[in-house]
Formats: sequence, C-alpha cells, structure tokens
Amino acid sequence: MKSKLVITALLAASLIGCQANPVSGRKQLVLVSEEQAQASSAQAYTQTLSEAQKKGKLSTDAALNSRVKRITDRLIVQAGNMYAPSRDWKWSVAVIDEPTLNAWCMPGGKMAIYTGIISKLNLSDDEIAQIMGHEIAHALLGHGRERMSRAMAMQGGMQLGSILAGRDLTVLSPVADIAISLPHSRAGETEADRYGIELAARAGYDPRAAVRLWEKMAAASSNGVPQFLSTHPAPDNRIQVLNALVPEMTAIYEKARR
Ligand SMILES: [Zn+2]
Repeated sequence: MKSKLVITALLAASLIGCQANPVSGRKQLVLVSEEQAQASSAQAYTQTLSEAQKKGKLSTDAALNSRVKRITDRLIVQAGNMYAPSRDWKWSVAVIDEPTLNAWCMPGGKMAIYTGIISKLNLSDDEIAQIMGHEIAHALLGHGRERMSRAMAMQGGMQLGSILAGRDLTVLSPVADIAISLPHSRAGETEADRYGIELAARAGYDPRAAVRLWEKMAAASSNGVPQFLSTHPAPDNRIQVLNALVPEMTAIYEKARR
C-alpha cells in the first residue's frame, strides 16, 4: 500500500512514466533517471570496493585482474556499438576475492566478478565473457534502474522530497545497493541472455560458451542456489533458447574473429 502511494506521488510529480527502452524497445516503469541511477551506483560501488579493500577482499592476483580486464575491455567496446551513450560511461571492473558465485554490472558500467564463480565453475575466457556480457546487457537495457525503482517502492516512506528534487543522491545510494540484491524479472533475464550472447559474439567470444556456462551454473545449484541465480532467476527454457541462438551468433563470432 505504501509503495503504491510512493508511485502515485512520483507519477503526480511526473518524474516517471512508461518509457520504451532504446535498446530493447520494451516499455519500462522507472522511478529514477539514468543520471540518478548512475550517480548513486557510483557511490554504492565506491563503498562496496572500499569495504572489500578493508577486509582484504579485493583480489591482488595481477594475472587474474588483467585477464578479467582484457575480457571486459573487449565487451565495453561492443557495448558502445550496441548503445552509443555507454561510450561515455565511466566503466570499471573489480575482482572480489570471495567464494560467492556472483557477478554484476551496475547502471553506468560499474562491474564486479567474484573469484568464487571463476574458480568453482572453472570458467574459461569465453565463459567469463558470457557472464559479463549478460551483466553488461542488463545495464545497457536499463534493468538496474528497474530494480532500483522496485527497491525504492519497497522502501516506502523514503525521503521522497529529496529524491523528487533530484538533489540528495545519498538517499539513493542504499537503494542502488539493495537493487543489486533483488532478482531481475524473467523478461529481463531473457533480454539479457539475448543481448549478452550477441555482445560476447561481437567481441569475439564463442557463443557455445553461453550454453556451457548455464549448464555449469545449473550443476552448481545442486549444492544450494548460487548467489547469481537468486538475482538472475533462470527462465525454464534458458539453455534451449541460448542453444537456438548459437547458429546466428556463431556467424557474428566468426566475423569478429577474422
Ligand atoms: Zn541476469
């Protein structure tokens, strides 16, 4: 009920509406502007990294850090071709030294991957590219803003005035933080799968690795649900849908490798 009031208040202030996403064309209900989403995500990211640093959980493995950076750099170039405004994003990637099976990309291109997912799933470069491609696709498609909007609605009586005024971003920083722990919608997952595999193919990464990645993820869930799957609910037919995309994506992949 409270969240309904919040949405009504925001609608009245005509801050929000149904906007068609420029990449997917899907209509999305958004309570925060892209600028607000990016600024608050940048704050949440800085905070996450400084906490990890304090606990000694930012990976100091130089080889692993440069391996991840090499892969994400190639994906970032293709993100710019898919969605031109992302060329101005201040992209950044961190490797967090925790056994968690997780990875994420916040609005504005602030990314992290956890050592747990790389080592426990024994990920190849192609598979890392698929998971980060999927994450980057969520960011390009505005899914972070959707999650932040839900987090805001959940917070109910948050200091609406300051948000409406667009001034106080500090109230949004915890929202950005909560947002990355909320599950994406299944529609969002299907979109991120579709655009993520294409992003990776354009960057020269093997589309068949997407199928392998999700098979590994499914196998890992026999020992409890990986963090990643709690925020990325698997559409039942995910592996079949990705498999069906492989021929088309292989053509893009082979062209990129030439
Ligand atoms: Zn996802």
